[in-house]
Amino acid sequence: MIKIDNTSKSYNGKSAVTGLSLSVREGEIYGLLGPNGAGKSTTLNMLLGFLKPDTGTTTLNHVNTSTDAGKAREMIGYIPENVNLYPYLTGIENLYYFCKLAGRDYTTEELSGILSDCGLQKEAHHKKTSSYSKGMRQKVGIAIAYAKKAKVYLLDEPASGLDPLASNELSALLKKLAEEGAAILMASHDIFRVRETCSRIGILKNGILVKEMDTAGVTAGE
Ligand code: ADP
Ligand code: ADP
Repeated sequence: MIKIDNTSKSYNGKSAVTGLSLSVREGEIYGLLGPNGAGKSTTLNMLLGFLKPDTGTTTLNHVNTSTDAGKAREMIGYIPENVNLYPYLTGIENLYYFCKLAGRDYTTEELSGILSDCGLQKEAHHKKTSSYSKGMRQKVGIAIAYAKKAKVYLLDEPASGLDPLASNELSALLKKLAEEGAAILMASHDIFRVRETCSRIGILKNGILVKEMDTAGVTAGE
């Protein structure tokens, strides 16, 4: 579903990503792990169609994300580190407006169902999002992507700043989305969280994928 094929990207002659190849299948949660400056944002930005690779290709379900960015983006649910919501609206109102913008009309019952599928219930109906915790904002961000029927979820540092409970809830939600067939790529520098959430990990160092491993059977703390 997500395919990065021998992709390189430099800024002003300085390499940010070099010969990167990786793929994420439906049902898989891939953790792209690396310290600051490793090239994680550059990789996400190429998949989002914001940056064009110098060489190589990035595709989503065979759609090229730089030459056909509009079509590719329809498949993507992007959850940045800080999800931008209308602060004076409630969670359900935000969901309604973002769905409307994406050309999808849902009834209140359907929107409620989507929120509850994403682990948000009562508060999302009556509290403005300005009062939400970071974890709740991320769940609304995921609910928006879910409502748009995203096939690919791209998350940037999803666990940073979350308490352990919120972090576990987020992991469980991502696993559920993967079970339903989504391909999920998350960028992170938090190895413990990545091990708990992801089925596969790639380690990026100075723009080079130095190691890839499956996490099946591996538990954090081992
Ligand atoms: P990460 O997300 O892993 O922190 P980035 O993709 O942001 O890594 O950065 C990879 C490298 O590219 C770093 O050396 C960074 O300084 C550089 N870089 C990122 N964006 C730009 C930019 N817009 N202009 C110049 N250099 C950049
Ligand atoms: P992240 O933690 O997500 O990697 P960064 O702090 O590395 O974010 O970068 C934030 C923004 O600044 C990104 O859009 C990135 O492309 C840009 N950026 C990063 N490094 C540089 C740089 N050396 N020169 C110019 N822009 C940069």
